[in-house]
Amino acid sequence: MVYAPVNERLVPEYTPQELSGKIKSHTIVNGIGCDYGRCSFCIHPQIHREFHLREPRLVVDEIEFMIKQGISFFNFTASDTPLPQAKMIGEDILRRGLRIEFTMLTRAWKSAGSKKDYLVETFRTIIRAGLRIVFIGAESGNYDVLAEVMNKDLTSQDIIDTVKCIRRASELEGVHVYIITSYIFPCPLTKNLVEKGITMERIYEDNIRLAKLTMPDSFQVIPAIVYAGTKWYYEPEKYNILLDKEMFGKIGLRADISVHMLVDKSFKSPYSFLGKGITEWIPMHIKQARAINALGIPSDLMDEHLLMARCAGYSDLKKLEEMSMEIFLDIISCDYEVTNKLLKQINVKSGEIASRARPVSY
Ligand code: SF4
Repeated sequence: MVYAPVNERLVPEYTPQELSGKIKSHTIVNGIGCDYGRCSFCIHPQIHREFHLREPRLVVDEIEFMIKQGISFFNFTASDTPLPQAKMIGEDILRRGLRIEFTMLTRAWKSAGSKKDYLVETFRTIIRAGLRIVFIGAESGNYDVLAEVMNKDLTSQDIIDTVKCIRRASELEGVHVYIITSYIFPCPLTKNLVEKGITMERIYEDNIRLAKLTMPDSFQVIPAIVYAGTKWYYEPEKYNILLDKEMFGKIGLRADISVHMLVDKSFKSPYSFLGKGITEWIPMHIKQARAINALGIPSDLMDEHLLMARCAGYSDLKKLEEMSMEIFLDIISCDYEVTNKLLKQINVKSGEIASRARPVSY
């Protein structure tokens, strides 16, 4: 692993006044960018052209400093937290006797099925150190789409096996770890895949199959969005995407575009695939989300929701969905009663965990 400029980051020290208005959760830079960085749709490698990992010792120094300020919930920022780094961070957390809970994004492990022992042991260490929520980009349940359209260099079996290893580690540690997976659907298809007879209906079924075999705690389905700078943007012909670069430039699709913008009828799609603009694909996108939802898997509960849910003592999936809906209603009604109550619960729980930490001399 290469450790680079992120090592020189300044660690924030909050004043009591700042702390009183802050949610006691800290976004910690364990790395910037992604060590894989080759997914054809992904904007992350365009935002951070190089991947920089932070030395585990410095990440844990910052964690320890935050604990002293009463903060014990952490979101790791790296687009992919490599397991060797996560393990070293975990070992240092345990060595120092710190108690925290954290979330991280990680890539499924290539050929995970043949590395089960290593993966289970590694995840056990990371879970013991406080891992509670993991986000894994599954992207597609279709083998060919993963390889040719997403350039993910993973198979759905790798995703299934990685999830199984996390579940096994979680079971052995007696701690539930929430797993969130994401899909990109509908998605473009290369000419080769169209000729091979791959259809959106087939991908739809493969996604349901993958969801059934992984049964994540939550999932997200996003329709294919072409971001400037990605392979889909620079090589649209290869992916069978019709891209109007002039219109694209005017609209300026950015990383913060959301599905909510796409359902806006006045939104003019600057790209299309398989003869339909992105807005025309929305009904199929919704159908896919509903079909996975029908398996009993809640949708769109992201790490912050799951963190809130843990603090509020929600454990079953139905209650998690209700909580997510209540937060949504808070937002559209501009009455943040439920959210504020949950934030208070987070702060109480974060303070409690931080006070239980037992820093040891090292
Ligand atoms: S999708 Fe994930 S693994 Fe792929 S380049 Fe983006 S951050 Fe990296």
